[in-house]
Amino acid sequence: MDSFSTKVVVVGSGSSGISACFELYQRKVPFILLEKGDKVGGAGKFGAHGVFAINSQEQNKRHVKYGYRDAFNGLTNYNHYFVNGELLSRFLQKSGANIDRLSEMGLPVTVEQSEQKAHLDDPLVYHKFNNFNEKMANWDKLPALFTAAGNKVLLETAAVDVEYDNGLTAVIAQTKEGQKITIKTEKVIFADGGYCGNQMMLEQKYSDAAEFLNLGERKSDGRGIRIAQALGADTRHNPVLFAHGCAPSRTINPMRRESSVEALTNLPLLWLDQTANRFVNEDVVYDFAMWGNAAHNVNGKYYVIVDQATIDTFKKTTVGLEDTFERQFCDVGQTPKTTVGPLPNIQQDFDNAVKTGEVVKAGTLEELAQKLGLPQQALDKSIAKYNDAVEQKQDKTFLKPAAELLFTVTQGPFYAICEHCAILGTLDGVNVDRNCQPVREDGSPIRDIYVVGNNANGLYSDGYPSYEGIANGFAFVSGWIAAQEAIKSLN
Ligand SMILES: Cc1cc2nc3c(=O)[nH]c(=O)nc-3n(C[C@H](O)[C@H](O)[C@H](O)COP(=O)(O)OP(=O)(O)OC[C@H]3O[C@@H](n4cnc5c(N)ncnc54)[C@H](O)[C@@H]3O)c2cc1C
Repeated sequence: MDSFSTKVVVVGSGSSGISACFELYQRKVPFILLEKGDKVGGAGKFGAHGVFAINSQEQNKRHVKYGYRDAFNGLTNYNHYFVNGELLSRFLQKSGANIDRLSEMGLPVTVEQSEQKAHLDDPLVYHKFNNFNEKMANWDKLPALFTAAGNKVLLETAAVDVEYDNGLTAVIAQTKEGQKITIKTEKVIFADGGYCGNQMMLEQKYSDAAEFLNLGERKSDGRGIRIAQALGADTRHNPVLFAHGCAPSRTINPMRRESSVEALTNLPLLWLDQTANRFVNEDVVYDFAMWGNAAHNVNGKYYVIVDQATIDTFKKTTVGLEDTFERQFCDVGQTPKTTVGPLPNIQQDFDNAVKTGEVVKAGTLEELAQKLGLPQQALDKSIAKYNDAVEQKQDKTFLKPAAELLFTVTQGPFYAICEHCAILGTLDGVNVDRNCQPVREDGSPIRDIYVVGNNANGLYSDGYPSYEGIANGFAFVSGWIAAQEAIKSLN
């Protein structure tokens, strides 16, 4: 068994871990970074497009009035007071300065209008990475900086346990080959990204976990949470799922932008749940978190129903509906398209998806009901009612805007895209105090241990809020807070 010794061990090199390391590096405190993967960076590197902040220099220059009072009261109210107020406050207070730190780390961002159509009129709080590919490349350069200063970055090495006797004495790690490493240390920061890579933990909390389309960091298997729990940390709270949009599969998903099936997924067409009923104003597609929640609320799965005439229209014409992911893939300053089509490959894309089961095709509604296992009567009724709403340009039940009531479902063949609630991670884990230390059921902190990013509970009541960039912003800031507190405690 190899052994090392250092002051602080950081577990995970995503947003919160890399941020903690940067603070330790700048303050010249020796550390070892453990990363399970063969490269640094988790969801924060391969996924996230930006961070939330208030009072950044750029916001100040642009005279953004939305500040601490609005954000603190807004988030507290939004979450019905189920928040860790002190931690929320600390995060918000540091979020502006975090923007400068991101630049220092080589991950610059620019304050931008929201990437979501539902939030175009929101205050300017979203800071988007200037260039996504450069962000990934610059993240990969950080380990060289850390090691040049005498620290260690151990890739393909996961934290698996700790030795703790009235205080931390060691972190136990394991290489990909199974070799155990003991790292004698005084502090550990668990920044390993929550538990979305642990299907059993997901199933314990969510009845529809089997339907999730997991786009999160699947190396995150809840190890840090489980270690903290074994040390007595309180993990009792509402589960908080990072539901975010929907897609048919991992191959047809918004990150790829290759299939017309995905384009139709991203529009407010007719959606039916597993009882063949409409369940939401499909315009919710323009708010990623609420869209994911709506699907989560109907057991994680629903169907987009179109007929052949709709497919043919998209094939030949430009339709006046915006693809909800369009803005996410525009670089800073680029103008988004507000229409979809023509989609010349749509028939081929749908035919291919029929073969893989991502789309179900049927000549008649009877056949569609039978293939999807839906009640025939409910299907007929829902479609008739929807067609009526399109013809009248009035959706009396769900209130979808008239401009989006474009396509009836009339003549076969009919198609159903099978949509799954997409998740980007989990956002509850361990109850922590304002210093990101896990707390016991009596509220007392467990010394020498810090839990950050997606591992920490306390910012959200039941789901991801419509405050863009908040998960990633909190991850960077909580890593920073934990490193500062660890240093303070070492001194
Ligand atoms: C596709 C996608 C898009 C997103 N977009 C946004 C966005 O635009 N805005 C936003 O606010 N949020 C976004 N998020 C969420 C955001 O990325 C996360 O909230 C944030 O990255 C959480 O940071 P973290 O450090 O907790 O976890 P991560 O960044 O996921 O890092 C966790 C790291 O820990 C490592 N690890 C896991 N277990 C171990 C172990 N036992 N030992 C060592 N290492 C381990 C993992 O390999 C990984 O590198 C997105 C997420 C995804 C998946």
